[in-house]
Amino acid sequence: MIELFDSHAHFKDDDESAVLETLARARSAGVTRIMAAGGDAAANRGAAKAKSLAPENVLASAGYDRETIDSPREPIDFSGLSAAGEMGLDYFCDPGSKTRQMDLFIEQLSLAKEHSLPVIIHTRAADDDTLSALREVPSRGVIHCFTGGLPFCRALLDLGFYISISGIVTFKSADNVREAAKYVPDDRILIETDSPFLAPVPMRGNRNEPAFLVHTAKFLAGLRGTGLDVFAAQTVKNTMEAFKA
Ligand SMILES: [Zn+2]
Repeated sequence: MIELFDSHAHFKDDDESAVLETLARARSAGVTRIMAAGGDAAANRGAAKAKSLAPENVLASAGYDRETIDSPREPIDFSGLSAAGEMGLDYFCDPGSKTRQMDLFIEQLSLAKEHSLPVIIHTRAADDDTLSALREVPSRGVIHCFTGGLPFCRALLDLGFYISISGIVTFKSADNVREAAKYVPDDRILIETDSPFLAPVPMRGNRNEPAFLVHTAKFLAGLRGTGLDVFAAQTVKNTMEAFKA
């Protein structure tokens, strides 16, 4: 049976039995490893809880993303975490707060650097500012749920980042994501669900979960002209590299 690594899933507001059931369904589907991603207080707590329930299968991260610019932010205990994030810029959803998003992003990048952790970055409609932040605070890690164009993809690869592709790649309208997903070299591509959001075809309309990663993996293997077993093994290896301490 193939094994897959979901490089980005959220466990926000899930109770303990829901998390355990989600992890069991993931394992049955071959998704044996998951990065439980933070990004706000609830997601940070959920990630730590998922890791504590299945430390052999789950890595955790914590951080504050652009949606928290107006919320109180508790200090993060980075011990035991494998990454900082998610963090970053979304000028598509909130173009009115660019300066404050950038300030928070720089603060989060600096914290990650201080703790020698890789970062998990969200970036949408903010190519130039994302690149300038990464030049200001040189960092390593993952660009999650990549939806940008080829020039941005190339610039991020040049900075050493891994590019993680979500179920969006299976959506009819996502030609640009497919173009980037074909372009990323074998040793830099990761896959993710970004669950509970963005269920891939043919699961659209459902609450997404790590078990659905297999649909995105099959689609991407086909797109890249690789066998599923080779692609699965490669992305597991890449994800372990990306989050290596
Ligand atoms: Zn996310």
